[in-house]
Order: sequence, then C-alpha cells, then structure tokens
Amino acid sequence: MKKITNKKLRTARAVWRQLDKTYNLCYIVPMNENLLRFGEPNAKLKKLLRVKSIILKTFTLPAGWTCPGAKDCLSRANRQTGKIKDGPETVFRCFAASGEARSPSLRKMVWRNLELLKEALKLDEEAGFENNPHTVALIQRSLPEKFDVLRVHVGGDYFKKRYLQAWVEVATNNPDKIFYSYSKSLHFFADVARPANLVLTASRGGEYDELIDFHGWKEALVVYSEDEAKKLGLEIDHDDTHAAFGSANFALLIHGTQPKGSKASAALSAIKKAIKKANKQQLATA
Ligand code: SF4
Repeated sequence: MKKITNKKLRTARAVWRQLDKTYNLCYIVPMNENLLRFGEPNAKLKKLLRVKSIILKTFTLPAGWTCPGAKDCLSRANRQTGKIKDGPETVFRCFAASGEARSPSLRKMVWRNLELLKEALKLDEEAGFENNPHTVALIQRSLPEKFDVLRVHVGGDYFKKRYLQAWVEVATNNPDKIFYSYSKSLHFFADVARPANLVLTASRGGEYDELIDFHGWKEALVVYSEDEAKKLGLEIDHDDTHAAFGSANFALLIHGTQPKGSKASAALSAIKKAIKKANKQQLATA
C-alpha cells in the first residue's frame, strides 16, 4: 500500500475545502486532526462525578479573547508568550486565563479550537446559512464518544450569536445529555431560544448584567469570603453541581491568581490563611 504523505493530505484537505466552499457539498471534513479538543474536569469534580456515575467533559476557548461580555473578570493570556494582561476594569483575574498563562499546551489547544470554529462559522456566513450547518457538524462530530454532562467553556465564552445558536442546535440534537455554561454573553442569550438541556448560569460582573434581572436568569456571583456569601443568602458552589444541576442563584469563592495589591488578592490570602488554620486545628484535635 502506498504511503500517504503530509503533502498529499494537505492537498486533499485544500481541495475538499474548495469544493465545500464552492458547492456547499458537505458539512463534514473527514480529517481527524480537524476536530475540536475536549478536556477532563478537575480532580475534585471527577471524584464527585465518579460517585454519581456521571461522565463529565469540558470544552475551552481562549479566555478573555472570546468574551464580549467580560468586564470585572477580563484577563487575557498572550497566545505566544502567555503573559497576562488584565482589562481596563478588571476587579478579579480570570482563572482560566491564569491557567493558559502557565501552560503553552493549553494555549495551543484553546487557540486551535477557536480557529476551527471560526473557519466553520465563516463558511456558514459566506453561504448565508441560517442554521450554521458547518459549525453544528464540527461540534457534533468532535463531541467526546462518551459523556453525560458537558461544561461548555471552562475558559472563553459565546463570542458570536451564531456560535451560541450552533450549541443550541447541538444540545437540541442530543436531548439525553446536559450542556451547561457560565456566561457573560447575555446579549446573545436574550435573543435565542434555548432547550432545557442547555443550562445557563448568568455570571454577574459583566457588560450585560441588567439582562440577568430582566430575564430572571439563575446567576453566579463571585464573593470574597464565606461570610459574604452567607450575608447574601447564597450557597457556595465548590464543585459545579449548582451550575450544572441547580436552579437557584449561588456564589463562587474567589480563587486563582489575583493581581498584586488588589482587593481580590487580599481576600484570597485571607481565605488561604483561614483554610490553613482550620487544617491545623483539625490535626490538633485528631
Ligand atoms: S468571561 Fe469567563 S473566561 Fe471570559 S474572561 Fe471572564 S471569567 Fe474569564
């Protein structure tokens, strides 16, 4: 059997794209390396889900770069160097952007995901397709083989209305799965009908906060201490269960790496001290 070289693969892909563009022949590009990459949940969540026998997967885009509604949390890691840059009104730094700053391989993956999506969206736009078949097909064929719950965006957000519409379609086509997102792209959600298995948690602290009250969406609020959450009457979600399965508002305790000298950084130090103290007391009484 003759060996297929990279050059031949590249040529085949280019021809396929051209045919696809010209004749809208098919939505499926049969190249495995053109699939979106999905990830695993963190260890804590994984343990909990194992107990519940749920398979959870995650999907991520470049944090900050794909977040048109971000304000209080806006931070971006440079694609090449990983250097973090906060936004003009950043109050607390985006956890996902800090992760990208530390990991070149994560940056590579999230930017690749974005490029593939942009390519598919462009094809849909150019062809004037209303229902985004290229983008829907790209997501659908990239979905992990086995999963029950998918967190859409650990980092990143719905960067275009068309892109949100594509996920709406994917969720509709997979009614036995749960797709959940935190989002600040609320201006897109306001115009799009969502199936029940695409669960939204509106993330407060963005450009479109007024829509949260207007639509009465479930919301998440970042707090600086357990006391603050208590005063607000909110439970703290430590493992995403409120986001994926709950219907009530909840709080998220500040975490990640925060800008030096900021209020968020001081709050984070206080939380870490309190945890250390509690652990010491536990050891002493054990
Ligand atoms: S919207 Fe989410 S991903 Fe985007 S910058 Fe804010 S916290 Fe990060």
